[in-house]
Amino acid sequence: MSNFQVLLVAGTHGNEINAPWVFDQWEQNPDLLDRHGLQVIPVIGNPIALEKCQRYLQRDLNRSFTPEFLNSSKFTDLEISRAKYLFELFGPKGKSSSQIVIDFHSTTSCMGTSLVIYGRRPADLALASLIQNRIGLPVYLYEGDSSQKGFLVEAWPCGFVVEIGPVPQGTLNSRIIKQTFLTLKICLEEISKSITGKSCFPENLIVHRHLKSIDFPRDFSGKPIAFIHGDLEGRDWKTITQESPLFEDLKGEIVRLSDYSCQDEVVPVFVNEAAYTEKNIAMSLTKREVWTFDENWKDAFYELIS
Ligand SMILES: [Zn+2]
Repeated sequence: MSNFQVLLVAGTHGNEINAPWVFDQWEQNPDLLDRHGLQVIPVIGNPIALEKCQRYLQRDLNRSFTPEFLNSSKFTDLEISRAKYLFELFGPKGKSSSQIVIDFHSTTSCMGTSLVIYGRRPADLALASLIQNRIGLPVYLYEGDSSQKGFLVEAWPCGFVVEIGPVPQGTLNSRIIKQTFLTLKICLEEISKSITGKSCFPENLIVHRHLKSIDFPRDFSGKPIAFIHGDLEGRDWKTITQESPLFEDLKGEIVRLSDYSCQDEVVPVFVNEAAYTEKNIAMSLTKREVWTFDENWKDAFYELIS
């Protein structure tokens, strides 16, 4: 455990201000949260964007951690420079290297508190299992979408995003603050328990595996011609079927799941997330799966923290 360190990130998106506020309070009142002897580094992902309460200045920091950007000096965008700085300092080979990263976000969607993992790295699955087993959070497994890449946590050996919503961008909110604080506390407790060999791994991990993201119906000029259907708005994580409505317009026309080629039962997430408008994503569709806990996940995780 000599140089084991956990990197905690808030404000990767500068208009998601609840987690940065919690970090600031923690810095001013170190007794607010017990570190359980862990070496923990809290850091603000994009401080300039946070100051301006903007998601980013030049490009999305949370799409800037690609090997291409991190390993080249030809890019000068503020966010790419920031990604390189964070990676070079806190990445696996950095001066202050961290093995685990937890990246705290908020969302305008009704996601409650959830974990997002990227791909199927065994150590991520083990850590997510520990948190899910403790407080039952849903896990969104994001994979197989080549249009979205360069997520911060992918650049570290292990980690996940915590997404908490709904909350408007740039707004402090009681429930979001308390959920952020609680999730942070549980993460520190569970990581600390794993180091002392007191972890309790579950038999299963329930994941919501990303299938596809879908855009609003648009006219020839690209304008949206329909909005999220009232039955779906605010109902992230609810299973829907082929006849379920996704979009409607003012003439009463409805676009249903059956209008897309998709599985019979899916679970929408990030429904109407404000920040995804620029990415042409109205929602993402997932499939709920129950995975048997694999001992290899545990081995990979312990190898990392030992
Ligand atoms: Zn975010």
